[in-house]
Amino acid sequence: MNRSLSVVALAMLGLPSLAHAQTPSGWRAHDLTRPRPAVVAPGQAAAPVLPPSDAVVLFDGTGVEAWRNANGAAAGWVVRDGAMEAVPGAGYVYSRQEFGDVQLHIEWAAPDPPKDTGQGRGNSGVFLMGGYELQVLDSYRNDTYPDGQAGAAYGQYPPLVNASLPPGKWQSYDIVFHPPHFDSVGVLVAPARMTAFQNGLLIQDDVAFWGPTNWLQANPYVVGPPRGPIALQDHGNPVRYRNIWIRELPEVPLPAPNPLISAVEVPAAALDRLVGTYANGGMVLVISKAGGALRVNLPEGRWQRLIPLSPTELAFGSTAATLTVSLAPDGAPAKLTFRMGDTVFDLTPVTDPSGGGSPPPR
Ligand code: MG
Repeated sequence: MNRSLSVVALAMLGLPSLAHAQTPSGWRAHDLTRPRPAVVAPGQAAAPVLPPSDAVVLFDGTGVEAWRNANGAAAGWVVRDGAMEAVPGAGYVYSRQEFGDVQLHIEWAAPDPPKDTGQGRGNSGVFLMGGYELQVLDSYRNDTYPDGQAGAAYGQYPPLVNASLPPGKWQSYDIVFHPPHFDSVGVLVAPARMTAFQNGLLIQDDVAFWGPTNWLQANPYVVGPPRGPIALQDHGNPVRYRNIWIRELPEVPLPAPNPLISAVEVPAAALDRLVGTYANGGMVLVISKAGGALRVNLPEGRWQRLIPLSPTELAFGSTAATLTVSLAPDGAPAKLTFRMGDTVFDLTPVTDPSGGGSPPPR
């Protein structure tokens, strides 16, 4: 959510230097020193785009029955000349139907003649799932902080280009949105993602939200329902909307959780003794340790994490293969057995990897 605050006042707050930036982008939120996206003139003004046959129509130019206010009552925006118009003070409007994964088409026009400057000129916003704002602003020859101009994932990602048309002209947003996913204990496993076009130009390329968008602060994700309304912002400016339709998309399948990841805890000392080079003729496997975890080197500089199944058995992290270590009476590795399906072979520790045979793969 953004509210009117003079960008000059923000600049005067004496915020810390970029060296202290705290956001994933490396820039402070709403940083006025950030480079502006290039201005690119769209090929033509947005023509009305009517809904395809499988779309849910949220506004066809005739009424706002598909919308409510924050309290669930009738939306207080007006319909005029085939457009629904924000009424200052009437508050946000929310689609009565709720959505998760969607393609959303929406056309909007900033007030003409324009009034005010910066965030005060033609401000509104399209919120996916009620919490992720694609900024609506009159960004035609109207400077503001880049992560708050038209087409910004508000406070997080400036648009790739400034594709804005003059105030009063109809503009289009075409948005693909995927909601965040959480596991059964509320840990985020996939962030919300958005791709967006403004007037046919790509402005957001599959960006991952850091959390719900907000003004001044970066809010973390909190577990919520898997669907939410489309919301349009009342920011005190009579921004107009038309041709609002939405297509529900299939959920993006998440990678199946690796059942081995939660395998047994093995003391570090037991893992350390498995580190080494093992060979069988020209076949060489190197078990090393990185970041506290074992890994096995593969040809051409690749490697794969090893997941302990017991103090002497390791599973490849993403291949259905295992390594079993046979220990000598003194506890040192005596043999390493590789198994993958019906492929089984033994390797023996190489005490001096430089003493002969093939060099270990790097
Ligand atoms: Mg806004």
